[in-house]
Amino acid sequence: MIPRPLGLLAELTHRCPLGCPYCSNPLALEQPATELDAATWAEVFRQAAAMGVLQVHLSGGEPGARRDLEDITDSASQAGLYTNLITSAVGVDRQRLQRLQARGLDHIQISFQDLAESSADHIAGYRGAHARKLALAASAAAMDLPLTINIVIHRANIERLEPLVDFAADLGAGRVEVAHAQYYGWALQNRAALMPTRDQVDRAVCLIPRLRERYAGRMAIDSVVPDYYETRPKPCMGGWARQTLNVTPSGLVLPCHAAQTIPGLTFWSVREHNLAEIWTASPAFTAFRGTDWMQEPCRSCAFRQEDFGGCRCQALAVTGDAAAADPSCELSPTHAELRAMAEKAAASAESAYTYRGRNRQSRAIPIPVR
Ligand code: SF4
Ligand code: SF4
Repeated sequence: MIPRPLGLLAELTHRCPLGCPYCSNPLALEQPATELDAATWAEVFRQAAAMGVLQVHLSGGEPGARRDLEDITDSASQAGLYTNLITSAVGVDRQRLQRLQARGLDHIQISFQDLAESSADHIAGYRGAHARKLALAASAAAMDLPLTINIVIHRANIERLEPLVDFAADLGAGRVEVAHAQYYGWALQNRAALMPTRDQVDRAVCLIPRLRERYAGRMAIDSVVPDYYETRPKPCMGGWARQTLNVTPSGLVLPCHAAQTIPGLTFWSVREHNLAEIWTASPAFTAFRGTDWMQEPCRSCAFRQEDFGGCRCQALAVTGDAAAADPSCELSPTHAELRAMAEKAAASAESAYTYRGRNRQSRAIPIPVR
């Protein structure tokens, strides 16, 4: 039986003034002229709710770049969805947040890059970003709008994990997501500058239980560990096409945000198909759903219903075969190769970032990096 999706990631635009070197947007960013209008998003939300979807994440790029974000938020709320805004805080100030809350926004998630302004702005590639994030987090707290702080962890900030979690608590977050960079797309391009050492990751992972104890009953701590130093993969996206849908700015529907890195997959669009039809029958969603597509060692593995073979995009990125076992699995024949890649990247002296979008968009991004 095909499970029902629980969440919808709505990428309202790929426009974003920031340039995070680990951004999950694709290398080929979709252009503003192709974006779905607010009326089409409203229909997508109605269809999602009818399928049983409970939550919509209004994301990007930076969703604040949409002038009709208030109308889009309103339509998600009217459809009965729990609405979460995922924002860099550039493009959403206190007045706009108040308007969004009045139109039904239930929750806000703000990303932070580091503790110190200079380092945070350097990682984001945008001077002034950190100050705007602080201001928006303070506004959310003042408005009693539930707040999640997201922190992507990599070599430049991993040693400050503990004070970063304390910082999130001080901002009034009810939840903090500590997500180690995942190496596809932009992060793969920047792997040599982002990859921490094994020792750094081990120490960071050991800190999490202590931090959970410190904030028990006050702030939840979600932790996503980096695959490269793992011995077993995580069930990526809860299993391919099992829990979530991702709609791109132009309306293509993906099983995960990185699925377009897999060549040969065909993605259907909400402009031509109903969301339920896409979920059950589109080629991209059926390609790796369940276990029939698996090769050995996954095919006969006792863990295949638990991790679903791990991440298809990582399998492709490292082995060249999207149907291979995730190389983060120690049973994969390419596991040693992945570990060697990680150790080589971690030992690299590279510190310069290729900022997301800067070398691919003709539009100039305003703020240079120190
Ligand atoms: S990760 Fe950074 S660059 Fe990418 S959309 Fe978010 S804020 Fe913008
Ligand atoms: S062999 Fe495949 S199914 Fe088994 S643990 Fe590794 S990735 Fe998971």
